[in-house]
Amino acid sequence: VRGLKKYYESNQGWAKPKGIVKAVDDISFALYRGETLSLVGESGCGKSTTGKTILRLYGHTAGSIHFEGQDIGQLAYEEMRQLRREMQMVFQDPFASLNPKKTVRQILLEPLRVHGIGQASERLGMVKRFLEIVGLAEYHLDKYPHEFSGGQRQRIAIARAVILKPKLIVADEPVSALDISVQSQVINLLLQLQKELNLAYLFISHDLGVVKHISDRIAVMYLGRIVELAEAEELFAAPKHPYTQSLISAIPKRHPDEKNDRIILKGDVPSPSNPPTGCAFHPRCPMVMAICEHTSPPVMQLENGHTVRCHLYVDHPKNV
Ligand code: SF4
Ligand code: MG
Repeated sequence: VRGLKKYYESNQGWAKPKGIVKAVDDISFALYRGETLSLVGESGCGKSTTGKTILRLYGHTAGSIHFEGQDIGQLAYEEMRQLRREMQMVFQDPFASLNPKKTVRQILLEPLRVHGIGQASERLGMVKRFLEIVGLAEYHLDKYPHEFSGGQRQRIAIARAVILKPKLIVADEPVSALDISVQSQVINLLLQLQKELNLAYLFISHDLGVVKHISDRIAVMYLGRIVELAEAEELFAAPKHPYTQSLISAIPKRHPDEKNDRIILKGDVPSPSNPPTGCAFHPRCPMVMAICEHTSPPVMQLENGHTVRCHLYVDHPKNV
């Protein structure tokens, strides 16, 4: 993904002039086969929009999206339809994403039929096998979504995504709607499937704590931009961006005697239709400098592919 932008016109009431919302603003990253890259940030930072834009569920304003060397931003509808098989999405709310009028059998047969996979006679066998893979017994086949728990519904949604044997799954807050006790079961299922099917995950979450153990790399987003990207361990061991530092400090400590050095940010996330000048984080940043108020920081490359978008890591004459 290179220089991806997704802008749209906001409609905030009849009296105000229309503004441009820069939901995704110049995002670049790579995602490798079998890897989990997490996109993390507060709600409204553009992470879901990034995921949907990459799958071309939304059009993009600028930039390019390559999938296995192919520029999918340029594909015609029919070519893209064929590629959909390789790129699937799992949503936060499995109840909303599963058709309430269809049985599990129908829900899982549909993608096979749409993509012409297998003979009609083989498809039921595939459905049963994937139901088993996600940990649901065969006798659930003729039940409807409302007859399942939230965790079971998410298993069905995951089965529907992986039955096509995709290469990429965009998982948008896949466990946020589930009870804590069920969250780890679903995450373990996703990890197991990743190993078996060599899946790449773009894992979207507002919770850095959730993605800590499942991510190979983590990208932190703020107001439409990636402000820091690093290997997961490195991000937690040595966060560079003041925003990342505050997010990590807000994760509850496991032991009560661990020092609670939480960094509290002032204010709320500003509206993406009217972002602050310079570094968009500057009104809330504990480290803000004069230059931050008027100049957007460049992306700085540190070691091990670690990147950060912050003036603290630039040798500006004003900074030294
Ligand atoms: Fe804070 Fe300035 Fe860095 Fe932005 S560029 S995060 S305001 S120090
Ligand atoms: Mg979202």
